[in-house]
Amino acid sequence: MNNYNKLLNNLETLKLLKIRDNIDNYIDLINNKRKDIIDALYELTNLEIDMLNEKRIQHSIQFAGFPYQKTFKDFDFTFQPSLNKEEILDFKNLRFVEKKENILFVGSPGVGKTHLATAIGLENARNNHSTYFINCNDLIEVLKKAHSHNRLDDKLKTLTKYRLLIIDEVGYLPIDIEASNMLFQLINKRYEKNSTIITTNKPFSKWGELFGDNTIANAILDRLLHHSHVISITGRSYRTKDILADSSKSEG
Ligand code: ADP
Ligand code: MG
Repeated sequence: MNNYNKLLNNLETLKLLKIRDNIDNYIDLINNKRKDIIDALYELTNLEIDMLNEKRIQHSIQFAGFPYQKTFKDFDFTFQPSLNKEEILDFKNLRFVEKKENILFVGSPGVGKTHLATAIGLENARNNHSTYFINCNDLIEVLKKAHSHNRLDDKLKTLTKYRLLIIDEVGYLPIDIEASNMLFQLINKRYEKNSTIITTNKPFSKWGELFGDNTIANAILDRLLHHSHVISITGRSYRTKDILADSSKSEG
């Protein structure tokens, strides 16, 4: 085997697959004196590093557990004129994460709360910040299970460390007092340490009822709202827009 083939084997063994795939091009460029050796090696190693970074990002995105991968580009702002587009797009800059602020999306089903929370979460994950998305009821299950295994403190510690925690669908099901207490502990631990995004269909005035206790509800809201952006979406459901459009056509 000649050294060229041995080199390809070495790149394969070292898993430098981007370099292996591109080295022929670069050898030609060097032979044609269109690139010097230092630039060629530098660019080849950059290709490898870019691929490693992309892999890391994809891994964080998988870990985060988003329900779907939708971004700001997929969001039709003209459908939801109650939103201040500039304010929403600024979340892409992740300034709120730097400042450890929270975001609360409030609105009825289908208005885009989970979509926007996911778009922000994806941006956060792409920026190498730990991100975790969880449905409120699943979170309660996780906390209760940890509690029954005497591991609630560990679980709360883990959940507190995420740079961004997204708790989706707060308010769709009633929350019992044990769960309310555990959610308070989590929000209290994260308060001023890391950012949390909440999506909810329940106005804050109904949170006492939701958590089965006004004092706990107020304590949770107090922490969540202190440094926060409250985004109320008052428009129509995107899920049923076509159905409703069709039925209004047949009526008209
Ligand atoms: P919810 O407010 O109930 O969390 P979602 O964010 O899950 O609603 O939105 C429901 C569906 O409609 C999703 O597939 C989402 O991507 C889509 N959707 C909602 N609002 C918009 C919008 N303004 N532009 C594009 N797609 C949207
Ligand atoms: Mg939702």
